[in-house]
Amino acid sequence: MSFEKLGLIKPLLGAIKELGFEHPTVIQKRAIPLVLAKEDIFATAQTGTGKTAAFGLPLLQRLRNTTANEDRAIRAIIVSPTRELSIQIFEDMKDFSKHMSVECAVLVGGKDLESQQKLLKTGIDIIIATPGRLMEHVEKGLDLSKIEIFVLDEADRMLDMGFAKEIRKVHPLLPKRHQTLLFAATFSDKVRKLSKLLLTKPAFIETSKKNSTVDTINQIAYMVDADKKAALLAYLIGSRNYPQVLVFTRTKASADTLVLELRKDGLKCGIIHGDKTQANRQKTLNEFKEGKIKVLVATDIASRGLDIEELPYVINYELPSVPEDYVHRVGRTGRAGRDGEAISLLDVYEKFDIKDIERVIGMKIPKETVAGFEPDPTLRRADTDEVKLKNEHKKPEVKYHKRNMKSPSSNKRAEVIKKTDASKKTDTKKKTEPKRKIVTNKKTFSAKKSKTSK
Ligand code: AMP
Repeated sequence: MSFEKLGLIKPLLGAIKELGFEHPTVIQKRAIPLVLAKEDIFATAQTGTGKTAAFGLPLLQRLRNTTANEDRAIRAIIVSPTRELSIQIFEDMKDFSKHMSVECAVLVGGKDLESQQKLLKTGIDIIIATPGRLMEHVEKGLDLSKIEIFVLDEADRMLDMGFAKEIRKVHPLLPKRHQTLLFAATFSDKVRKLSKLLLTKPAFIETSKKNSTVDTINQIAYMVDADKKAALLAYLIGSRNYPQVLVFTRTKASADTLVLELRKDGLKCGIIHGDKTQANRQKTLNEFKEGKIKVLVATDIASRGLDIEELPYVINYELPSVPEDYVHRVGRTGRAGRDGEAISLLDVYEKFDIKDIERVIGMKIPKETVAGFEPDPTLRRADTDEVKLKNEHKKPEVKYHKRNMKSPSSNKRAEVIKKTDASKKTDTKKKTEPKRKIVTNKKTFSAKKSKTSK
């Protein structure tokens, strides 16, 4: 199957060729004809499967007949959860439309609202926006009455981030007859509910198994003590000569701490999280893409928007607090059919969290140790009652998010005790240490360089 056969026009075929796309991906084959036929669609597709072109190409074709500048109106909105993803979509749309006279603008927070308003007056056909910034423009009088196509990308993520209100507010402002394209990487009841509100007789496209990870990604977990994680990470990057690696932490604070530790090991690192300005995040991302930075440490907020070609390694320094985020994180590698490797570093607290992830992705992740970084077998979680935790994990009906909010597995992660006698379960509380701390053990690191388990 070729792009020509999908009915795309010459200016788009030219752009696709220049981008080096030879054959359409599965989602593109299925979505492009439906979008051209003006159908509403509800598509679940894995991250990195070519979703942007699946909606972007036919959308551009549908809007190709633009009027003169003075009568120009915004005819399509693409809403996505994060600034990075919106900017990425904007850049892709510019690439796709380079031989057309369709104009796109990106409206995200962190940029001046007034200059965006001025830009909109110059004759824009398509806006790509985050929900919050879109609402700000709507409140300032942005006219949505000429919208023909409304796209929600990563709708599940938008709902997880609490943007349901914004989407529900925008929807009634759109003209009665418009086409809606809803894309979600993962299934959820919330998404299904939203689809009922937004879509009219949608064509349903499911290109992947529920919440499955991309087949070409090799997934592995290394068991390691929390205080050795930074050293193990530096060791893996150094000894395996990883050229470019994206590292995920659970919190902004641990991202900050980790970067300091890795820099001490002489690694060139960048950091992206919610406290960084948009300009700073973009600069870091560009440096990473250009290879000026070898290691990019990010929190989940950044994980959706990153599209770095042929990114070979993703490392979960800490598992995400929501299992579905694991799918999004590892989706940064193995994009468009390429090979990738996703490594998770698991400490004693995460032994159980990984089971939630395995349940979501429907497969077991092999667990190994790296020679010299084997976990101390006498180390136990201080917060448990392990028996209770284990039983909890045996019950499939236990909902992970409830546990994540309330259970010892997430709330009492700060304590570790060293047990000399495994039978002394009763006095665990007395022996707790105050705080988990990341310590780089440089001696251990350099001494163990010669051997790994893999
Ligand atoms: P996306 O899922 O839209 O983020 O796309 C993931 C990556 O695949 C991007 O780097 C795209 O440029 C690339 N891509 C999209 N469609 C194709 C295709 N048909 N052939 C090769 N690469 C593609």
